[in-house]
Amino acid sequence: MSSSEPTKYLLSEDRIPTSWYNLAADLPVPPAPVLHPGTGQPIGPADLAPLFPMEIIRQEVSTERHIPIPEEVLNVYRMWRPTPLFRARRLAAALELPPEVRLFYKYEGTSPAGSHKPNTAVAQAYYAKQEGVTRLATETGAGQWGSALAMSCALFGLELKVYMVKISYEHKPYRRALMETWGAECVPSPSSDTNAGRAIRERDPESTGSLGIAISEAVEDAATREDTKYSLGSVLNHVLMHQTVIGQEAVSQMELADAWPNVIVGCVGGGSNFAGLTFPFVKEKLGGRDVRIVAVEPAACPTLTRGVYAYDFGDTAQLTPLVKMHTLGHTFVPAGIHAGGLRYHGAAPLVSLLLDQGMIEATAVSQRPAFAAATLFARSEGILPAPEAAHAIHVAVDEALRAKEAGEGRTILFGLSGHGHFDLAAYDRYHAGQLEDYEHPQDAIDAALAGLPSVAV
Ligand SMILES: *Cc1c(COP(=O)(O)O)cnc(C)c1O
Repeated sequence: MSSSEPTKYLLSEDRIPTSWYNLAADLPVPPAPVLHPGTGQPIGPADLAPLFPMEIIRQEVSTERHIPIPEEVLNVYRMWRPTPLFRARRLAAALELPPEVRLFYKYEGTSPAGSHKPNTAVAQAYYAKQEGVTRLATETGAGQWGSALAMSCALFGLELKVYMVKISYEHKPYRRALMETWGAECVPSPSSDTNAGRAIRERDPESTGSLGIAISEAVEDAATREDTKYSLGSVLNHVLMHQTVIGQEAVSQMELADAWPNVIVGCVGGGSNFAGLTFPFVKEKLGGRDVRIVAVEPAACPTLTRGVYAYDFGDTAQLTPLVKMHTLGHTFVPAGIHAGGLRYHGAAPLVSLLLDQGMIEATAVSQRPAFAAATLFARSEGILPAPEAAHAIHVAVDEALRAKEAGEGRTILFGLSGHGHFDLAAYDRYHAGQLEDYEHPQDAIDAALAGLPSVAV
């Protein structure tokens, strides 16, 4: 390890991107329209107005390539952006990689909430505030989204109610404490505060909850209150677009390292950190530059690898519009794996479309190998990864070892979407040999897919 070679590539504050990149401007095929759940017709801005600020709706359907980032949002980004890009020299040494197999990672865990999620939370809170909204409602799985939005609402002076998937509420009490410290109210979902929550509890008093259920509750909350809008932490086009600050910085940082990735790996829950890192590279790929892009999901929630590409609801109670995406069915309730952020039944429409077009690949990983890779990473690079990001580490390590085996050179970039400081109970269970691998059974997938809405498009 020569001391003259950098370990991390840092950009100065004036290199924070000043616009978000909108992939919709460059797509080879137009995205499928979003449909009204009642009529099956394409929806317009007016249909979404009860739920979202107008600027968010405008961005959701925009085909402008670059959308300027407001100065107030940039001011908050300056608290932790640009984030570092690391060359994983110590991990490479632990894997005994030859010098021509190079591993890089873009680390989003330096934000105050510990993940990439504030990149969009700050923007969403800002636009709500601009339009006179005083309260937001949202759902959260593992609690990363809830905490990112809680921080953002604190910074812009908004109230926040968070419906937190019950199993995570029980597994991760410190995430709740963090949200409450930032001033949010947090309840386990299904809750007794909404019709959607009460209906689920009546049918299944033992329900551990799901993101689909929690979304139903938050949407109902926002739709039934004048002062409240809804905020979503992943999946939608505007969320993915806000996250492209990650990839725009990474493109510049790879240039600093005088390197271009052959392979980029990211974990996918709803698809936002993956899209944020990879879409600026997808733009280059559409322009003719060669790069493989691999999405990694958990075997317990195999949306991209075993779901279907079809119209489905975003939530369990069928309150949301219909979107065309890879889905396991809106009634799907995944096993209580510890990568709570990867338990959504669907995937972002834009990520689904790229997979359908063969622009990206997808693979599924079980949680034990993911934790094994995370442990190796922590022991070599020091940083304790979020369990979600551990899935990407596993696949990146696998890519590196295969290149070494084949005697080929390869440059691999992966997304380290957050740290795992609030996931130590999961690490504890892994170290005690108590984590189980879980492949979702095919008959359960078939049953959930049988409930897909029929849409004549
Ligand atoms: C929420 C989360 C994810 C999964 O969500 P995406 O929208 O797919 O990015 C992954 N990693 C971390 C650290 C998260 O907080």
